[in-house]
Amino acid sequence: MRDDFPRYLAKELDAADPLADLRDRFVIGDDDLIYLDGNSLGRLPAATPAHLDRLVRQGWGDQLVRSWPTWIEWGRRLGDRLAAHALGARPGEVVVSDSTSVNLYKLAAAALDAAGGRRTILVDAEDFPTDRYVLQGLAQARGLTLRMLPSDLDEGLRLHELRAALDTDVALVVLSAVSYRSGALLDMAAVNAAAREVGAVVLWDLCHAVGAVPVELEASGAELAVGCTYKYLNGGPGAPAFLYVRRELQSRLRQPIQGWFGQRDQFLMGADYDPAPGVDRFLVGTPPILSLAALDPALDVLAEAGVARIRAKGRRLGELIVALTDAWLTPHGFRVASPRDPDRRGGHVSLHHPEALRISRALATQARVVGDYRTPDRLRLGPAPLYTRYVDVWDAMDRLRDLAERRAWEHVPGEPSRVT
Ligand SMILES: *Cc1c(COP(=O)(O)O)cnc(C)c1O
Repeated sequence: MRDDFPRYLAKELDAADPLADLRDRFVIGDDDLIYLDGNSLGRLPAATPAHLDRLVRQGWGDQLVRSWPTWIEWGRRLGDRLAAHALGARPGEVVVSDSTSVNLYKLAAAALDAAGGRRTILVDAEDFPTDRYVLQGLAQARGLTLRMLPSDLDEGLRLHELRAALDTDVALVVLSAVSYRSGALLDMAAVNAAAREVGAVVLWDLCHAVGAVPVELEASGAELAVGCTYKYLNGGPGAPAFLYVRRELQSRLRQPIQGWFGQRDQFLMGADYDPAPGVDRFLVGTPPILSLAALDPALDVLAEAGVARIRAKGRRLGELIVALTDAWLTPHGFRVASPRDPDRRGGHVSLHHPEALRISRALATQARVVGDYRTPDRLRLGPAPLYTRYVDVWDAMDRLRDLAERRAWEHVPGEPSRVT
């Protein structure tokens, strides 16, 4: 059966891959380890250590506080870089700051404050937990109704379910463009248009979309968005997140955390809070400069590749996972748990198996393939087009099939752990 898609075909795809050379722009210490978790924590760009070393020694060590006139613009500067290379947004619409969770809170609260008498928030019932928790807290504190939209674990939210829930009481809709579990991809323009018809605002979570699929915030009519930079953007563990507020909306929104970085003429140290004009008003406090700095070398690689080419390769990597699952793994109880149509899927593919947790552990410890487990019974595989080769996907699937033939997970513990 291994002859149905021989390994040399994967090698041929790599030989024709226009992004193949970019793999060398990442630190890959262990060539035998197959890393399919770039959608949790992207790899370390090769230029990052020296870039940070220079910043620490010169910017911090030598220049000290005299570096701040440069650093103070970095949230905006990096926001504009992201806007141009990954988000389809205009200059002055994106800043990098805080975490995705905090930015989600800031923008959701600002939208709710501006929503007049509307009292309903909609969220995908299967959305990433932090989104649901933040909204639960906001709804509780304000006495609003949070409605959970039923959504298919494999196929994601259907547009007709959203349409059925949209009415003139809806203030805010929070959705992920790409589902963290299945990879289901939403049509952002269609969702934005449906919400606009009833006067509701959509706040997009782009964590699994940015750097994997083309995001066109301006063209799709998006108003608000947040997302993280440590997944497909390779900004490093805990790298600060971004937020986007459409230009036309900025002056009408006030965020709830009135910090001094969001203040007009910050260094006049005025008596009362007066929000800065533009997107700066969504900043809060002193940014983590070392973490911000790591985004520059990461964005250099992204800009060189271009999201269109990343997407084209990501589709084919995903199709390879789907095809090899069908051919090799179905007899062993695996099933594709993501949309099969690549137009409806982001960068990762999930496989259903009742023993997914044990399998994901066995795969990492016995077969040296790092993917991850997602509740309730999904093995999630996230090939990152900037550094994952077709042959890596082929080998990972081959190792998984070998594991399945031997049922090698049977002796692996199945208890939950602190991180999965
Ligand atoms: C990874 C992820 C987050 C992470 O939020 P943090 O505040 O950075 O922990 C949020 N939302 C989604 C959809 C994610 O995939």
